[in-house]
Amino acid sequence: MSSLREGSDSLGEIIDRLISVPVFSGSSLAKKPVVIDLYNAARSKSGSPLSFAAAEKILSASDGADRSIILTTGFIVPPWIEAETDGPVGAVTLAHSLTSAFGLTPIMITEPASVAKLGQLCELGGFRVRDFREATKAPRRLAVEGFTLDREKASEESFRLLGRVKPSAVIAVEKASPNAKGVYHSGIGVDVTTVSSKVDALIEAAQEIGIPTVGIGDAGNEIGMGCVEEAVREILPTGKECGCPCHAGVASSVCTDSLIVCGTSNWGCSAIEAMLSYHFKAPELLHAGSTEEFLIRAAASVGFVDPSSGFSDAGVDAIPAEVHASLINILNFVTRSRYSDLLYMEKYKEYTKDKEKLTRLFREQRGDSP
Ligand SMILES: [Zn+2]
Repeated sequence: MSSLREGSDSLGEIIDRLISVPVFSGSSLAKKPVVIDLYNAARSKSGSPLSFAAAEKILSASDGADRSIILTTGFIVPPWIEAETDGPVGAVTLAHSLTSAFGLTPIMITEPASVAKLGQLCELGGFRVRDFREATKAPRRLAVEGFTLDREKASEESFRLLGRVKPSAVIAVEKASPNAKGVYHSGIGVDVTTVSSKVDALIEAAQEIGIPTVGIGDAGNEIGMGCVEEAVREILPTGKECGCPCHAGVASSVCTDSLIVCGTSNWGCSAIEAMLSYHFKAPELLHAGSTEEFLIRAAASVGFVDPSSGFSDAGVDAIPAEVHASLINILNFVTRSRYSDLLYMEKYKEYTKDKEKLTRLFREQRGDSP
């Protein structure tokens, strides 16, 4: 079982802070952003940085495995009744990183209604989309499959899928989760059960077989957030009272082996990429800010919507594409600076070694000289 290299946990602390910054000061869900409180709840359960723990889980499951990995994403949101940009963009960048790092064949699992556009986004993200069997035949291919909306059929479909593709892990990115009553909600408390794939069954089946599961969420109603269900019920205004006829709140009841809570779920994917990038000292494992911006625009162009505005106009969670790009740029610099020394920093150390000489020079220096 592999583990992340030395320094990964301290880098994980910094990455966790970056991805849990409430960049957008408003919120459609609460009077103030909920991410810090939700993050703290998840962190106190985890004991180690969330991005570190998730990456460690994926690394130990994937290293040396000539297999596949399942990423499930896609959230059809009210009032637009369209799939949102948060989730798919992160799933594509993370798939890119995982296939580069481990040679895994990614399989995207989503709502049947979103298969075509997610496929288009994957193509724009650098992949060739094929059916699963064809996808395994050459690198840089992936498969996109729809998953049942019918909870009755979901368990059988899950075991069939896991048996067929034998994934090293299952990662859920911004995926609608049932609450304790089995009702799936948007963050504001709208019942989205009829339009959501029942991938909680897939998580359940994976856990039964012993396949590691990772959840990424930003509000509390997503797969994985069941690990902090009580905190979500307290922190999120809709947590324990959704206002829909079920009156049981939006808090997820599905806990994954590892959970990342972040400001926007796409960033949780970037956090895992950053950890892998540091581990392998490979800058290409963390996508660039320009790629983030390109893919958000691409997601809009194939029909994903900003959940806040409802427009396909290149935003995610009310944050414009270029702001997301800026965050990813910072993430890149933070990560790279941890494994790649700058030459001028070496020189700086050399130039400042002789303190006596420097003190003398400073004393000789007149403050008003040019
Ligand atoms: Zn409800």
